[in-house]
Amino acid sequence: MSYSETIKTHYQNQLKDIRDAGIYKEERFIHSSQAADIEVEFPTGSQLKKVINMCANNYLGLSSHPDVIKAAHEGLDTRGYGMSSVRFICGTQDIHRELEMRVTEFLGTEDTILFPSCMDANAGVFEALLTSEDIMISDRLVHASIIDGMRLCSAEHDTFKHSDMEHLEQKLQLHQNKRIKLVITDGVFSMDGDLAKLDEIAALCDRYDALLFVDDSHASGFIGKTGRGTHEHCGVMGKVDIITTTFGKALGGASGGCVSGRKEIVEMCRQKARPYLFSNTISPVVVAGVLEVFNILQGSTERRDKLEKNTLFWRKGLTDAGFIIKSGESPIVPVMLFNAALAQAVSKDLYNEGIYAIGFFFPVVPNGQARIRTQISAGHEMEHLEKALEAFIRVGKKHKILGLSKQDIIARYGL
Ligand SMILES: *Cc1c(COP(=O)(O)O)cnc(C)c1O
Repeated sequence: MSYSETIKTHYQNQLKDIRDAGIYKEERFIHSSQAADIEVEFPTGSQLKKVINMCANNYLGLSSHPDVIKAAHEGLDTRGYGMSSVRFICGTQDIHRELEMRVTEFLGTEDTILFPSCMDANAGVFEALLTSEDIMISDRLVHASIIDGMRLCSAEHDTFKHSDMEHLEQKLQLHQNKRIKLVITDGVFSMDGDLAKLDEIAALCDRYDALLFVDDSHASGFIGKTGRGTHEHCGVMGKVDIITTTFGKALGGASGGCVSGRKEIVEMCRQKARPYLFSNTISPVVVAGVLEVFNILQGSTERRDKLEKNTLFWRKGLTDAGFIIKSGESPIVPVMLFNAALAQAVSKDLYNEGIYAIGFFFPVVPNGQARIRTQISAGHEMEHLEKALEAFIRVGKKHKILGLSKQDIIARYGL
């Protein structure tokens, strides 16, 4: 009972500040399984509403795929529910190792180690590999989990401007005398959906004797001709020394992550990475599910091909209608609204139209770059996308933003 009035008030004030700043996050309860069509309770206590989900990381539509569910059931029946152990004590089953080998084969690397999540993979990998004699050079827009992982590592840290190859080269020259130089980037950047220039980055790493780290969480399973990821798309398979990725997005969407790459690097993680050593094994249920995901992906590229087709349709539809989107080829399609209040209003109107798409604004994206981030899935049928597009157009007309330039929208709504 030392939770005093003073401390309580301290937190109440902080929470009020978050609310006043308009950035208080509220959860929406989904009563169905994850899919293109979901049933949502929002606001809390209201009647369930059927909406089309346009903001899941369910890129391949596998989160509720019947074969994955069936495989997970079988995993549950044959290997049980939980392991009650970390990997190196008594938490490794044959299927955990089998999954590591499947990931290795799929990504075209030398070996793989599973982590409870990609957040954990990123939290553990740098500290396991680098010391104060080394340098980490990261793109300025890398994912928060990479930033946290770098904080836990005693190696020196520097950054290069987002996807700026000249700046990266300057930094590689500046730090030439460090023992190990590790260049760090996301494969696909989650907020804008743009791809790292991995071919150019890999060439620079070659020239300056640096290792290359790529977090491919928003790419594994669907970017590249056979969905291997950004390294496949950029023609540098085998040249990325360390890939981290998640099973929590395209690859079934449950949970889990990994570090995949050079044999010795993976072995070092198995000896030293703290989230691997001190956090519980991924449940056998999930492992069995992800194994089935790889069966599906290696059987055919049908789902990633459908995702590509859906993405093209969606990008063209929004552009033709007069919305401003971030150009590119990934299924992350940000609809730019610039003003935070406008993004919130559009998201709310879309929801009333039966479209679930969330507004993003500062501090998640830079000030003045508020947006609705839509994400396309192979689980979307053409009718979902057509309905969603019609709703976007109705809401866009209501707010009189269709066909407006960025300057016009800012002139009308401010920043
Ligand atoms: C989602 C994401 C993660 C976190 O993955 P989890 O497995 O959910 O912890 C890490 N890195 C990037 C780039 C991501 O997009």
